[in-house]
Order: sequence, then structure tokens, then C-alpha cells
Amino acid sequence: MHKHHSALGLATARFDSARGIALAMRPVQPVTLIRPHAAARAARFFVEKFPGRSMYAVKANPSPDLLKVLWANGITHYDVASLGEVRLVAATLPEATLCFMHPVKAEEAIAEAYFEHGVRVFSLDSLEELAKIMRATQGATDLTLCVRLRVSSEHSKLSLASKFGVAPDEAKELLFQARQAADALGICFHVGSQAMTPDAYANAMERVRQAIVGAAVTVDVVDVGGGFPSAYPGMEPPALERYFETIHRAFESLPVSYSAELWAEPGRALCAEYSSLIVRVEKRRGDELFINDGAYGALFDAAHIGWRFPVALLREPESTVRDMPFSFYGPTCDDLDHMAGPFLLPADVRAGDYIEIGMLGAYGAALRTGFNGFGATETIVVDDEPMVSLYTDLPEAAVSTNVVKL
Ligand SMILES: *Cc1c(COP(=O)(O)O)cnc(C)c1O
Repeated sequence: MHKHHSALGLATARFDSARGIALAMRPVQPVTLIRPHAAARAARFFVEKFPGRSMYAVKANPSPDLLKVLWANGITHYDVASLGEVRLVAATLPEATLCFMHPVKAEEAIAEAYFEHGVRVFSLDSLEELAKIMRATQGATDLTLCVRLRVSSEHSKLSLASKFGVAPDEAKELLFQARQAADALGICFHVGSQAMTPDAYANAMERVRQAIVGAAVTVDVVDVGGGFPSAYPGMEPPALERYFETIHRAFESLPVSYSAELWAEPGRALCAEYSSLIVRVEKRRGDELFINDGAYGALFDAAHIGWRFPVALLREPESTVRDMPFSFYGPTCDDLDHMAGPFLLPADVRAGDYIEIGMLGAYGAALRTGFNGFGATETIVVDDEPMVSLYTDLPEAAVSTNVVKL
């Protein structure tokens, strides 16, 4: 598994695997593992198989190293939601195309994005935001304006249905007004994160059809947003190709201009496999393990929305004892720092053991804090496979990690 990383040029030691690190280093602090080859493979998959343009939703993981891997593997467009993200991507990937897809923006942020960073694509879900964009860009005539529709989150693990999106009865007027102001008019939506069935997109595309027919406008861009799933314990989604087929079929039957473009904004699906974490068990109390990362570290979703991540005991020789369900406590001093799981591990887990927690590249790594003096982690690049992958059938020759400078 070492083939693709010869040119990475790391200053620090390199290891082949999570197990190798745990056993050789016996780290006192949690260690973040990153797998550029896994993110590269996900990017290639979307670039080659999604029937339109894939832009990366930066909030899922804004690591500059990751941004460079995605860029090197064909992701040229980036969905940014704040001035901080605009500046970060502009500085990291000067040739990238930025799309400002937060429907409620500060006027100053719009102005800086437009005049200093060349941003031309903006989303909106109200007439107030349309007026704001036109003011901030001094009446620009080269804008792509994407009207965000409110759609159902019923098929997704994390709802994005309440906060943003224009309601059906107001979509007509907004689409009509945006059409007057825009060079290109788009419609976008977000079905919620970790959409467990392609039907989520089919249903949302039906809403797009109704909105286009209702407003009788020419639409140049249909952006199906994020929500593409990864695999977690108890959440194994259908193949991503099925999502792509459903979206493609729905797009082909929409009443849009003949040259209309199809876009998507995957976040999670491009980076979930990029990173995992090695933690140490500091104490065991029955079926509860006290570990050295938690709710304020990379395990926010495990604590606050009960997300289950894959786990593996890193011990030599391997335990032969049967698995049992455990819950975790994180290192800080409050009861909230608790991850219910259940996480299945050999029944003889004990203090001093190391555990790898997988699939933390999306959101987990981005949500880490330093609360209570915890949160310092070392980051190490590894060559082994992520604990779960949706992309393993792609030929290795298709992915490139050798332009990454860490
Ligand atoms: C969060 C977000 C995304 C990414 O969503 P995932 O579920 O991670 O794919 C894409 N677009 C917008 C507008 C978002 O807010």
C-alpha cells in the first residue's frame, strides 16, 4: 500500500498504518490520521461519475492539505459559506472557482468576495438577499444567482430543511426577480446531510420542476447540493452511482435551457474517509470506556447526534475475545462529553489500549476545540485503507496524491 506516496516529502516520520503508529509510538495524546489517497479516490469518483460538475462544500473539512488533494484530482469549484472560507480557498487554490452558497450573507462579505476574489456565483432565498447582492456588487451584470428552494429532509440523517430555502408560494416572485438581475439563473437545494436514499433527490427535483413551471423562467443551472452519504455502522447507503442515475434522469426531464448545467455540492462524501483518530483508553468502568478525545474534540457528532463511527482495537497480538457494546466518555470534566454508541469492541478492552475511530474526515476534524485543555493532536499521514470505503473499486492509477505538499 505504499505506492502512491513516495513524493509526499513529509518532515515527520511516516507510517503504514494506524496499528503501526499505536504500537510503535504509544501516543499520549490522540493522533489524527490522514489518508490523502482516500480523498483523492473520492474526488476522482465524483469527477468521473457524477453527470455534472462537483464542487466541494468546504465546511465539511477546510484543511488546506485536503483542498490541495481535491484540486489535484479534478475538483475545480468550491462551495464556500463565509468570508473566512472565501479567503482560505482563494489563498490555498488561487485558480479555483468559488461559489458563495450561503443564502444569508453579510453585505461586506459579498462585496469583498465579488471585488477582491472574483466570486460570481451567489445563492439566495429572499428578495432582501437579492437586493443586498445587487447593492454589494454595485449592480453587477455578470452574476450567476442560485435561488435556494426549501425541500424536505425526511430521507436524511441531519435536517437542513428549516433554516434556509424559499417556500413554494414565494418561489415564483423570487425566481422572476432573480432572472431579471442575473446573467445566469440557478436553482439549488439541500436534501439534508447523509441522505439514505436517492429518492431524496428525486423528490427535490420534482419541487424544482414545479418551481420552474410556476415561474415560467429560463433556468441555466440546477444545483442538487450536498447530502451524498458515506458508510457508518448501521448506515450503509445504496451505491453512489444509484444517486447519480436518479439525479441524471430527473435533470434530463426538467424544462431547462438546452445548455443548462447540473451541479452538486458534496461535502461529507468527498472527505469522510480522509481522516480517522487514534485514542487511548484511560479507564474502563464496566461497559464505559474513558478515552482521550470526545464531544469537544473530533467526536462532536457521536456525542450530540448519536452518530456511530466504526472502531477497531489496535493491540498486538490481536484480541480473540468476542465483541461487546461499549459507550465512551471523553476527557473533559462534564457529563455532556459522552458518546452513547454503541461501539463494538472486544470484551477485554482495558486501560492503556488504543482504539482507532474511523470516518472522521467530514465534520469531526472541522469541529475540534481546545476546551478544558484537551484537543492537542498530532497529525500523521498513513497509507493504509480507511476503515470503510465507498470507492475501493476505482483503479489506483486513476488517483494522484503526489502533488501534495504538507
Ligand atoms: C453543508 C452543505 C453542503 C455539504 O453537505 P454534505 O451533506 O456534507 O454533502 C453542501 N451545500 C450546502 C449549501 C451546505 O450547507
